[in-house]
Amino acid sequence: MNATASLLADTICRTVELGVTITDAAVLDDQTHLFCSPVQADPTCLDCGEQARLRDHVERRLTDLPIVGHPTKLHVRLPRFVCDNPACETKIFQLRLPKLAEDRAKTTFRCTRWILQRLAIDRTSVAAVAKALDVGWDLVNDLALSKIRDMVYDQPDHLDGVRILGVDEHKWKHVRGDGTSSFVTVLVDLTPSPVVGHDLRAFGEGPDRLAR
Ligand SMILES: [Zn+2]
Repeated sequence: MNATASLLADTICRTVELGVTITDAAVLDDQTHLFCSPVQADPTCLDCGEQARLRDHVERRLTDLPIVGHPTKLHVRLPRFVCDNPACETKIFQLRLPKLAEDRAKTTFRCTRWILQRLAIDRTSVAAVAKALDVGWDLVNDLALSKIRDMVYDQPDHLDGVRILGVDEHKWKHVRGDGTSSFVTVLVDLTPSPVVGHDLRAFGEGPDRLAR
């Protein structure tokens, strides 16, 4: 792919924001495959700060955002380096791209955000999101649960301000008969938002009164 085509592709797909540039592309069935290389390949060893030498390259495959409605896979060619500093514990390391994806993740950061947005904001089903990305239902479900746990556990103050809780039980039909419990207890924060509270105060029903 020549430089102009690569620039156009990177602009359309915004891949430079991930720290990679598109070098080639292919369509296979319903999937679009983008072959990419890092924009910069700094060989500095993160352990000792010495300049390492190039060893080889590995391909990392990641699911990215769908392009014009088609599932998209990134094939990122990542260099691996050897640190020759005898005092350093790191021997071989792979270039890390902090804006691309977490270590060992199967989706890019922006794809993970897209999954959460589809599920939480657009109320899309897990099955529909999995189909849009051409990945398994379990991957989308596990990713969503993991990220939500991180968001909750990383914010010890996430219950601050909660004054009204709604409690209910829900039975999942799709797990009936597989030996696991099909009931879950659901807790919902029903504390009026400041905007709602403001509106209610206008009608003489302030948030404190609702709390009782
Ligand atoms: Zn080193």
